[in-house]
Amino acid sequence: MYRSPIKHCKNCGTAVLYRVPDDGDTKERAVCPACGTIHYENPLNVVGTVPHLGDRVLLCKRNIEPRWGKWTLPAGFMELNETTAQGAARETDEEAGAQFEMEDLFSVLNVERVGQVHLFYRARLLSDQFNPGHETIEARLFTEAEIPWEEIAFKTVKATLERYFDDRRKGSYGIHVLDIS
Ligand SMILES: [Zn+2]
Repeated sequence: MYRSPIKHCKNCGTAVLYRVPDDGDTKERAVCPACGTIHYENPLNVVGTVPHLGDRVLLCKRNIEPRWGKWTLPAGFMELNETTAQGAARETDEEAGAQFEMEDLFSVLNVERVGQVHLFYRARLLSDQFNPGHETIEARLFTEAEIPWEEIAFKTVKATLERYFDDRRKGSYGIHVLDIS
């Protein structure tokens, strides 16, 4: 797992123990030996967009770890009190400062190894002017031939870009559900 295990009870601060709770559960959980609180850990959602303009797609060069200096689609962890589409739009605004119109869901990627689900929406760019935030070194448009495939930050982004250009060639966009190892 990517995330570090829970160390202390969120309720009382006592050091937790990982064990199968006595309530018929079948998985090990972080259980508090003092107050009995069971801490459930579930996958996190990462939401983003495939911003496109004509035959080009917008990529952001990462100014943060992990994968500093590598290229990615705008995406990040979903926040509470927002929908998946709102989160994807927020990340696109924060990381690229792009003007765009949200379109349909495009890819759903299970990244079991790190306990994440990534969702990308297509987004139609309204301008080729960008105003990237501090998490981005540079935001620019790439045609399929220009994509720096060896410099893409994440497998989920690479898989989404490949499907996007495939669908673009076919002239129809589906929803792609993929498992990333
Ligand atoms: Zn406790």
